[in-house]
Amino acid sequence: MDAGKKYCPWCGKPLTTRAEDGRVRLYCEAEQRFLYENPVPASTAVLFDDKDRILLVLRNREPGAGEWSLPGGFVENGESPEDAAKRELLEETGLSAYGPALIDVIYQESVFYGTCLLIIGYSFEGFSGDITPGDDASDARFFPLDELPPLAFESHRTIMMKIVSLRG
Ligand SMILES: [Zn+2]
Repeated sequence: MDAGKKYCPWCGKPLTTRAEDGRVRLYCEAEQRFLYENPVPASTAVLFDDKDRILLVLRNREPGAGEWSLPGGFVENGESPEDAAKRELLEETGLSAYGPALIDVIYQESVFYGTCLLIIGYSFEGFSGDITPGDDASDARFFPLDELPPLAFESHRTIMMKIVSLRG
């Protein structure tokens, strides 16, 4: 996917494209070097309560403002993907989770962010705290699996359905 970059991040000159190893990549003519682009990792947290309901947040920012999604966000430098999932969960819902287990990693193109993403989904053994929606969530609630609202992101549905099938 063309990430939409037009100027070299190092020297500021316009970028062109050039074929290398059978792929078309961004290229800086001025510096004669390729710009290698990588997908951006984002972590999501899947939490079940003791009634087997799943935790969702109501987003108040784009993308997906006004729609429900799993809690989550971008992995930052200095934290593992698991830690990012826990941090985002705490920021958006007030809940502290422990015992992360990888569910799946999903690659997708994002028009909104103008790049590709790796959505990394974790389930958790348990959690503590009381729900307090915050950060970019205006509500947070546990939903029964047969009463799920429409979700903002297909990748979240895929991750959710995978853990539901794994739990049997
Ligand atoms: Zn350059």
